[in-house]
Amino acid sequence: MSTSVTLNQKQQYNLNKLQKRLRRNVGEAIADFSMIEDGDRVMVCLSGGKDSYTMLDILQSLQRSAPIKFELIAVNLDQKQPGFPEHILPEYLNELGIEYKIVEENTYGIVKEKIPEGKTTCSLCSRLRRGILYRTATELNITKIALGHHRDDMLQTLFLNMFYGGKLKGMPPKLISDDGKHIVIRPLAYCREKDIEKYADAKAFPIIPCNLCGSQPNLQRQVIKEMLRDWDKRYPGRIETMFSAMQNVVPSHLCDRELFDFSAITQGMALPDGGDLAFDREELPLTSSGFDAQDEGELGINIVEVK
Ligand code: SF4
Repeated sequence: MSTSVTLNQKQQYNLNKLQKRLRRNVGEAIADFSMIEDGDRVMVCLSGGKDSYTMLDILQSLQRSAPIKFELIAVNLDQKQPGFPEHILPEYLNELGIEYKIVEENTYGIVKEKIPEGKTTCSLCSRLRRGILYRTATELNITKIALGHHRDDMLQTLFLNMFYGGKLKGMPPKLISDDGKHIVIRPLAYCREKDIEKYADAKAFPIIPCNLCGSQPNLQRQVIKEMLRDWDKRYPGRIETMFSAMQNVVPSHLCDRELFDFSAITQGMALPDGGDLAFDREELPLTSSGFDAQDEGELGINIVEVK
């Protein structure tokens, strides 16, 4: 099964431009957070959704031109959900000619057995999935595990934690796994979801639907997602500015005593973080930082699918 698309000249030009931007975003995230080093064996977790297909595609493209050598191994977990089209990923990956492994584990059955009907299954399911992926990483001598979360996932998590968790906490671009043995990376950390959506559409990745388990979507996350999308429409650049803010934290101007030693403030000391405007009205720029209006729009995709 090979799905290809025909693009007119303008669409091809726009797709190239979009790919260039995604490559630049991923390349910068990899460099900024030292995500991939020479000799790494990177396990690319492939769910069959638009994000993970895009991650694999862009990582492969970077692999071809990178000055360092690293390996990519695609891994999919077949959770035995009813209706999971198990032929799609092997066919796609065989065509790419990439090393891959499909792990078959009936987590669907376990979750259905343990969780009463009508209760949310996601937390047990993702715990099981995490354990299996870590075990697979060990078996395959993997040095980095790559997940397909993007910038908008990271922002949504920030707001979820703020609104429901009482924490100023997002989703890290790089972390150590709970068992302390694996390094997990998020190469799409700087990529916008709308770019990924357009790219996945234009490339006609064979997307596998994500609602096979029959679980309800996370309603709180959905609400935050809608809120951010609405802001993005009404105030272009706000999302970019908020993401810049995540990279520009000023601990002395928050209230976490673990992050900043307020008791050490003494008269005559050097001003931390540029001081304060305790008595002044703060001057803020009128335009959003980190926003390029030219990046908007483009790729008027009306693709004709050719099977
Ligand atoms: S949506 Fe379904 S497959 Fe995804 S984590 Fe929840 S239970 Fe698991």
